[in-house]
Amino acid sequence: MNMHTPRPIPRYHEIAQECALFETAHAQGLPLLLKGPTGCGKTRFVEHMAARLDRPLYTVACHDDLSAADLIGRYLLKGGDTHWVDGPLTRAVREGGICYLDEIVEARKDVTVVLHPLTDNRRMLMIDRTGEELVAPPGFMLVASYNPGYQNVLKRLKPSTRQRFLSASFDFPNPEPESAIVAQESGLDASRVRPLVRLAGHIRALSGMDLEEGVSTRLLIYTASLIHRGMPIESALEAAIIEPLTDEEDIKQALRDLIATIY
Ligand code: ADP
Repeated sequence: MNMHTPRPIPRYHEIAQECALFETAHAQGLPLLLKGPTGCGKTRFVEHMAARLDRPLYTVACHDDLSAADLIGRYLLKGGDTHWVDGPLTRAVREGGICYLDEIVEARKDVTVVLHPLTDNRRMLMIDRTGEELVAPPGFMLVASYNPGYQNVLKRLKPSTRQRFLSASFDFPNPEPESAIVAQESGLDASRVRPLVRLAGHIRALSGMDLEEGVSTRLLIYTASLIHRGMPIESALEAAIIEPLTDEEDIKQALRDLIATIY
C-alpha cells in the first residue's frame, strides 16, 4: 500500500508563466535563477513548485559566512566519535530534491566552486572530505535567487556562475493581481486592499531616489493583516510600512504626506 500522502500546495498566483518554466527546467535537470526584489514572491513560488512536483525542498538563506561545508556537510564529534552529517545541498542531491539558495550572492566564494560541477551536464556533487562523488538523480534541481537591486559591485554574480542557470525576472505584481494576493493572504476585503496597493505604487516610484527599495508585497500583507485584526490604519501603516522602510525622519514624514494623499 502506498502510504505517501502529497503535502498541501502553498498558494501561488502565477504572474508570467513561470510555473511552466520551472517545470521544464526541472524535467530537463537545469538550474534556475530567480532575480528580483525582496518580498515579491520568489520563495513562495519555489515552495509552491516543490510541493506541486512532490519533491523535498531544502531552503538555505545565504549569508556572508555561509561556506561550502555548511551546504555539503561536515564531520561532527559525538560521544568521542566523529561522524559525517550531510548538509542541505547533499541531502537534496541524495533524495532527488530541490535545493533553494536564497540570496546566493551573499555566500562565500568557495560555494560557487561546489556549484559548478553540479550545474553543468555532470550534475555532480563532490564531497572532498569523504571522497564521495554523487551524481544527482533526475528529481534534483538547484534554484537560486538574488536581488539585482542591491548595487553592490563586490557582490555581483560572476558571469561564469550566472551563465549556468536559466533565469527569470520577478517583480512586484501589477495592481490587480497584487490586490488579489494581499486580500487572499491577509483576509482583508479587496476594497480595503486596493488603496494599500495604490500607495505601494507611489512608494515604489520613490525607490532608488529616497528609498533603497520600494515596499514589498510581504509588507503589504503585514499591513493588511494588522488592519484586518482591527488595528487603526494609521498605526498599521506606521508599523508595517513606514518604520520597516526607513530610519530617517524626513523620509518618514514624506511617506506620511504621501499616505495623506490616499487616506
Ligand atoms: P521573496 O522570496 O521574493 O523575498 P516571498 O516569497 O517570501 O518573497 O513573498 C512574501 C509573501 O508575499 C509570501 O509569503 C506570500 O504571502 C506573498 N506573495 C508574494 N507573491 C505572491 C504570489 N504571486 N502568490 C501568492 N503569494 C504571494
